[in-house]
Amino acid sequence: MSPDVLAVAEHRRGDVREVSYELVTAGRELADATGGDLHLAVISGRIDEFTTRLDLEGVDRIHTVDYGEEFNHDVYTQVVCALADELDPQYVLAPNSVNGLDYAPAVANRLGLPLVTDAVGIEYDGGLTVTREMYGSKVETTVEVDAERTVTTIRPGEWVTTEAIGDAEVTPFEFEVDESAVNSEVTGFEEVAGGDVDIADAEVLVSVGRGIEEEENVELVERLADALGATLSSSRPIVDNGWLPKNRQVGQSGKVVTPKVYIAIGISGAVQHVAGMKGSETIVAINNDPNAPIFDIADYGVVGDLFDVVPELIEEFE
Ligand code: FAD
Repeated sequence: MSPDVLAVAEHRRGDVREVSYELVTAGRELADATGGDLHLAVISGRIDEFTTRLDLEGVDRIHTVDYGEEFNHDVYTQVVCALADELDPQYVLAPNSVNGLDYAPAVANRLGLPLVTDAVGIEYDGGLTVTREMYGSKVETTVEVDAERTVTTIRPGEWVTTEAIGDAEVTPFEFEVDESAVNSEVTGFEEVAGGDVDIADAEVLVSVGRGIEEEENVELVERLADALGATLSSSRPIVDNGWLPKNRQVGQSGKVVTPKVYIAIGISGAVQHVAGMKGSETIVAINNDPNAPIFDIADYGVVGDLFDVVPELIEEFE
């Protein structure tokens, strides 16, 4: 076994996902602690472009496999296992994303390694300690992994990213995908309604909650989002009511977001909601209840009726 770390980059619809940059930070920290190198696997039909973008400070080697425009479970599983066989890294890191959670368990199973999912912190001191959250982020747990090697998935939005250009050695990984073992094929990509937007990528989110009262009032908050050049998101009741599509929901059973600015309007701040937005850089809350829990985590708060405050903000920003 080498003390190295192998991280697997992620892309979607022709773009490198933010979590790939976060993996570089997490992987570098871990490799520094183990005294190993950080290897990054880039599996894509756009390796030149993605490799240029991911050649970041801290990455020692990038291994490319020129295959497919979209994620494929069987291909990723085969490639990551083969790379792990060749490099024999101590740790494999993948994103705790829909894709990562698709192949990481298969990789761990094939390599005969334990899998630790949804890490929000990783420490190495002769052994791996992973921090995870439970009960909608109310409880933090530390897992002391009783194994020399693991596959670990990291939660998006928990590590800072670097944009500093690196000088990694880029090597095509000579690997022939076993097509007879590729049992699925991406034939097209269809977004759910309103799926043109990925709230996880937004820099400014204006989020609407049950305080909006009626479906037709959602438009008021949407106008504020437009005036700010922001993206509209929501708490769960808005989605449960069918007023916005599921992909706009922030929270434990929605998306985890880390925008520069998060404006919560008529949202109480339930733990399940906070679990999805507490990593935002600046949180602004508008709520008519001064005791609403959202004010406990807000950097700026307006205690007031949203039907008075939001029109004034729209006027100001327009
Ligand atoms: P409420 O809690 O009803 O809050 C509405 C707020 O609006 C109140 O604070 C009120 O003071 C304020 N308000 C009312 N009128 C006005 C006004 N005129 N002007 C200003 N403020 C006003 N929730 C999520 O959001 N995301 C999730 O992913 C999620 N996952 C869940 C998973 C599980 C397993 C469970 C059990 C729950 C989950 N929930 C989730 C639901 C969560 O517990 C809360 O019920 C929900 O977040 C509440 O949404 P809200 O803040 O919009 O509504």
